[in-house]
Amino acid sequence: MSQKAPQTDRPLIPLSFIAEYAYCPRSTYYLLTDAPRVRDENTYIQDGRAAHRVVDKPYTRHRNALRVQSSLRIYSRQYGISGVVDVVEFYPHNVIVPVEFKRGKKRTNPAHRQQLALQALCLREMFSSSHLTYGEIFFTGDRQRKRYTLGDDEQKEAIVLADAVYKRLQKDLLDPHDFPQHRDARCDGCCFRDLCYL
Ligand code: SF4
Repeated sequence: MSQKAPQTDRPLIPLSFIAEYAYCPRSTYYLLTDAPRVRDENTYIQDGRAAHRVVDKPYTRHRNALRVQSSLRIYSRQYGISGVVDVVEFYPHNVIVPVEFKRGKKRTNPAHRQQLALQALCLREMFSSSHLTYGEIFFTGDRQRKRYTLGDDEQKEAIVLADAVYKRLQKDLLDPHDFPQHRDARCDGCCFRDLCYL
């Protein structure tokens, strides 16, 4: 499937950077400024790569009326988002379901919901579909799926996140004070920890 190149007045910001803002705004600042990262190639990172290997390359498969597309590039002109979805399932009647692959066993994580909600903003715009009401996380450890409803509340949350990052990009120079540090348990294992705690 081919989509036209996106045109937008907003800079296209990687979806992962916007999702990261919910986790820690300062981390997004470091990503936007391409700050050096220090991170060991620990088992979590290696497991994460392995979890995505099966969907790293684009493919299209058909199962009866279902079409499955992997590694699909997505964007929202309206909100200035670009990214890639691991898998998108296209059902009859323009029903669309984004599916993200994660390492480990089935669990609940608000960050997963936020990532799916940002993807939903893009997919609804690209495919003019109002039939995107949920997304799923597929856990490679136990091959279970966790479903997240993607309704009005989740859409509003995603728009607030995208707007927050967009507004902070309006300055000629990014101001780190616009991206506060959380400085809590989330810092454990953060690839920017050395830089952040200077
Ligand atoms: S070390 Fe902590 S405060 Fe700094 S970017 Fe990472 S998570 Fe955020």
